[in-house]
Amino acid sequence: MASAISHAVAALGLGTMFARPTIPKRVWVIGAICSVLPDIDVIGFRFGIHYGDFWGHRGFTHSLLFAAILAALVAFAGFSRGTPGISGVSLWIYFFLATASHGLLDAMTNGGLGVAFFSPFDNTRYFLPWRPIAVSPISVTRFFSERGVAVLQSELLWIWIPAGLLAVCVLVLKNVLKRSEES
Ligand SMILES: [Zn+2]
Repeated sequence: MASAISHAVAALGLGTMFARPTIPKRVWVIGAICSVLPDIDVIGFRFGIHYGDFWGHRGFTHSLLFAAILAALVAFAGFSRGTPGISGVSLWIYFFLATASHGLLDAMTNGGLGVAFFSPFDNTRYFLPWRPIAVSPISVTRFFSERGVAVLQSELLWIWIPAGLLAVCVLVLKNVLKRSEES
């Protein structure tokens, strides 16, 4: 995994593409939660599930199908009464991207097994060809004692800064579009 805060930062960065002042803040909070949720699979280690198993770490909960299902549950069941400023489909797209970004970032880390993007159809674990992000230790105590600083540095560089840049680009683009509409 990349660390939970960095996954949430990525989700918030993606959120700027959908952001409008009228959209309730809880949308972004839930998007951040969606982006962290795939790592719920680490519970499996306590129950004897192996890393490479279907329910193992970076298995099904890190797949694109899981992201699609979770996004549908949250967007259409959780927000069934409609949300000001954003359509149900856009909500689904946002929650899908927030959740799927988790697997994508994990596939860019330099350790562990790859990500089962196509589970349950294909349980093969994949990495991206480019893996600059230092892998975060699974246990929190290890995170603070061992490689924590190195991991945070690499996540800052490869997740926080790109998410911030994305947010800035989107804001600039929105401003330009608004001005050209006005003129
Ligand atoms: Zn993960």
